[in-house]
Amino acid sequence: MQSSERRLIIIGAGSSGLGVALAAARRGWRVLILEARDIGGGTSTTSTKLIHGGVRYLESAIRSLRWSDWQLVREALRERKWVLNSHPLLCRPVPIVLPVVSGWERFYYGVGLRVYDYLSYPYRLGAPQWIGREAFYEYFPSVKSGINGGWMYWDGQFQDRLYAVHLALYLVQRFGVEVRTYHQVVDIQAGLKGVQVIIQSAKGEVYEETGDIVVNATGPWGDVLRRKLRPEVPSRIRVSRGSHLVLANLPELKAGFLIPRTADGRVLFILPWENHTWLVGTTDEEADAPTWDAEVPPREEEYLLTHLRRYFDVEGEVVARFAGFRPLVAADAQVSTARLARNHVIEVWREHKVIHLMGGKWTTFRAMGEDTMRAIYRHFLNLPMSEGMEVSQIVPDLSELERLKLEYPSPILPGEPYLEGEVIFWKRMGWAHTPDDIVKGRWQLHLINEKRAQRLKAALSEKWQELGQKSH
Ligand SMILES: Cc1cc2nc3c(=O)[nH]c(=O)nc-3n(C[C@H](O)[C@H](O)[C@H](O)COP(=O)(O)OP(=O)(O)OC[C@H]3O[C@@H](n4cnc5c(N)ncnc54)[C@H](O)[C@@H]3O)c2cc1C
Repeated sequence: MQSSERRLIIIGAGSSGLGVALAAARRGWRVLILEARDIGGGTSTTSTKLIHGGVRYLESAIRSLRWSDWQLVREALRERKWVLNSHPLLCRPVPIVLPVVSGWERFYYGVGLRVYDYLSYPYRLGAPQWIGREAFYEYFPSVKSGINGGWMYWDGQFQDRLYAVHLALYLVQRFGVEVRTYHQVVDIQAGLKGVQVIIQSAKGEVYEETGDIVVNATGPWGDVLRRKLRPEVPSRIRVSRGSHLVLANLPELKAGFLIPRTADGRVLFILPWENHTWLVGTTDEEADAPTWDAEVPPREEEYLLTHLRRYFDVEGEVVARFAGFRPLVAADAQVSTARLARNHVIEVWREHKVIHLMGGKWTTFRAMGEDTMRAIYRHFLNLPMSEGMEVSQIVPDLSELERLKLEYPSPILPGEPYLEGEVIFWKRMGWAHTPDDIVKGRWQLHLINEKRAQRLKAALSEKWQELGQKSH
């Protein structure tokens, strides 16, 4: 069978599912993505927005001396460069400073960050640089006294949800991938002629699709579908909730700030974010099960503010908060989430022709997709994986969107830059089922300013039907 005749069904349009779609589509597969809600609206919109190798994972690699931990950081550093180049409008390098109080810390972190830089070779972003006390306080005038300088290093920062949406659009335009949003898979059955997935649409219709192979890329919800096929298997996914705050009315932040160790041993980032805000996160709290819209519990908000104010002499106003569930993969359900694998795991169910892709991180989404396809070629086709078409950028063609903005230039709310034409574009694509899909999914306003998001949502809700008619 030619790859163009093989049909791959991917369940979940988060970073994992999109990574698999990219790897399959560029090898000529027919790809259908089924997403229960909106593209990138699960965990993939709640990340710290860093494209990184993970300095904290490097620290654990140094301590454990485990080869797999080193590999994890090295792979992520290679992917960091690819993601940064893949969509320069949504991704950018960001300098981050690690504050230092003692000579020992200067030595220890200096060695660590140099190793981080060497590991990224030949995909380096810039060597770490020591900044003395004076330069440090020029960068961070609102930091309390007592810091003796810091190490500045480079990682990437991106708009995670919009990146997911643009990637999906690129896959549709370039490779004819089909993406159905608000189509939830409610059951999977392995049959003789392939794998049947039973789907329920937002309108309540229930129907069936058949794929040669199915990939379960449902992130923190992965166990639900595993158990549909084999109710007896133990769950493998554990989740931990990570919360973030966005603060406004603060001085401009010229670089990110890394708190390397909180009182309870976590890493916290304070990053420059959209509209001159500061993004503070993340916590890491064990949770029972993922919920769709994760709340930030008051104690986690308090925790983040306490740590911010331990270093910075600022007040600021919390204008947005968001949390998400990190899918962590367990070999053993008894292990605590702090010790679970943060790299991805691929589980192949040969007899069902189903693959479960679990865990991982945004930065490595492309490598996760490649690994999944490699497993498909090896276990189901018994073939070496083909090279496929080279993809170095995933920027979609937005000319139709721009044309519609000119045709329908009325703002959704007077004084706001968001125009009717954009909503009509996404409705025509079939990817705007609720005002939230636009306000959160395209404008990302809930991640920048909750009150503004609510105002725009109210205005958009009033026009929703009328815009629906214009989109026909
Ligand atoms: C707090 C936090 C901070 C993080 N920060 C970073 C960071 O800075 N950098 C980084 O690289 N990584 C980061 N990560 C990790 C990264 O965000 C996740 O690993 C990644 O987004 C997971 O994507 P996913 O596609 O596996 O899951 P999701 O994004 O949750 O996607 C799964 C999708 O499956 C859909 N779905 C579920 N069930 C069904 C069904 N039955 N039928 C159809 N669709 C279904 C869901 O609606 C969802 O859209 C962070 C994670 C967290 C939680």
